[in-house]
Amino acid sequence: SKLTKEEILRKADELDVRFIRLQFTDILGIIKNVSIPVEELEKALDGEIMFDGSSIEGFTRIQESDMYLVPDYNTFSILPWRPKEGAVARLICDIYTANKEPFSGCPRYILKKVIKEAEEMGFTMYAGPEPEFFLFETDEKGRPTTITNDKGGYFDLTPVDLGEDARRDIVLALQEMGFEIETSHHEVAPGQHEIDFKYADALTTADNIATFKFVTKAIAKKHGLYATFMPKPIFGENGSGMHTHQSLFKDGVNAFYDEKGELGLSDTAKYYIGGLLKHAKAFTAVTNPTVNSYKRLVPGYEAPVYISWSGRNRSALIRVPAAKGQGTRIELRSPDPSANPYFALAVMLKSGLDGIKNKIDPGPQTFNNIYEMTEKERIEAGIESLPGSLKEALEYMAKDDLIKETLGEHAYQHFVRAKLIEWDIYRIQVHQWELDQYLEIF
Ligand code: GLN
Ligand code: MG
Ligand code: MG
Ligand code: MG
Repeated sequence: SKLTKEEILRKADELDVRFIRLQFTDILGIIKNVSIPVEELEKALDGEIMFDGSSIEGFTRIQESDMYLVPDYNTFSILPWRPKEGAVARLICDIYTANKEPFSGCPRYILKKVIKEAEEMGFTMYAGPEPEFFLFETDEKGRPTTITNDKGGYFDLTPVDLGEDARRDIVLALQEMGFEIETSHHEVAPGQHEIDFKYADALTTADNIATFKFVTKAIAKKHGLYATFMPKPIFGENGSGMHTHQSLFKDGVNAFYDEKGELGLSDTAKYYIGGLLKHAKAFTAVTNPTVNSYKRLVPGYEAPVYISWSGRNRSALIRVPAAKGQGTRIELRSPDPSANPYFALAVMLKSGLDGIKNKIDPGPQTFNNIYEMTEKERIEAGIESLPGSLKEALEYMAKDDLIKETLGEHAYQHFVRAKLIEWDIYRIQVHQWELDQYLEIF
């Protein structure tokens, strides 16, 4: 299915493309664009377009800032909400250094390295995410609020829910871009939605998550709404997660399935779970990378808190869905959509592979609702907790060589530096809660 250079040039011509956005993500997972006119497309396809990496979060120092954008031909697609005449297309790119070598801090390259390691073991990873998000109203100046349209609709009896309308258009736009949408539905909190797209190999899924986020924002904006992937925008309501279903295939056969195994799981799957559990504390800084992420990982809102696995209950960090055979998979429930999707998939896969290589036993499943267990019962059952804050998560990451190795020296250092600054700024703020709590009693 790989497109050739000639095919892309022909398509661009047929579809009257005028501009192409060359996309990549910074270490925080934010999509960046370099827009070029169609006349430059051939040069872009040859990987000859340069940009200044020094202003991109986590890229390079000033003296070595010239970088190349090398597009992945498979990611060519038209942005469906742009005009049909004078259309806009996009290509997702890898970052190369001025010496034309893959840049070691490029998130896509970091994921590709782990995918290669899996391939050397004979495995292809498939991943299917369940991203959740909120649609909020904007104020007169177009800035996002935390007011949801659902509530407005409830009081003023508007027949159409703006949010449902926007979600339908998001699904249509994604389908036009080639996504296979499995389900889309309203989530538990007011204004909260989920759109699930079909599982794919890890790299495609990471690209899809990145694309999904900017498409959702663009279409929401057309509806006068703001789409946010902030993990916990409203206190007292469910946060937004990005549960990630994962399986490994070998020679076209699901290597997680064994009809005789517990829950239909093979030893490979068990060890993969063991690896995820072992590194969970350390990779949480990557799968849940914001201060706000940790306000979602609390009891009472369907988000995981304890490090455990189970076939039945959804309070566990890892759940084994009932599907068997080729559909056998495990679901990691901690990631949230503020994660850099390339990094997140890289650390999950790397942890799972470590489990397989070192035959890491995940221990017994938990059958009880862990939230109803006392702390003593949890300790007796050996159930530990995920980190409680970004700071704690960064400390666990610093102690885990496998996770550091996954990101590589460059990305790890930049990521930690950016995150510690984020934490320190947060730490010195005086929050409304503190004023409400202390102002009058002291
Ligand atoms: N919003 C929940 C979370 O934070 C998940 C809810 C669900 O999909 N069951 O993970
Ligand atoms: Mg779901
Ligand atoms: Mg959900
Ligand atoms: Mg789920």
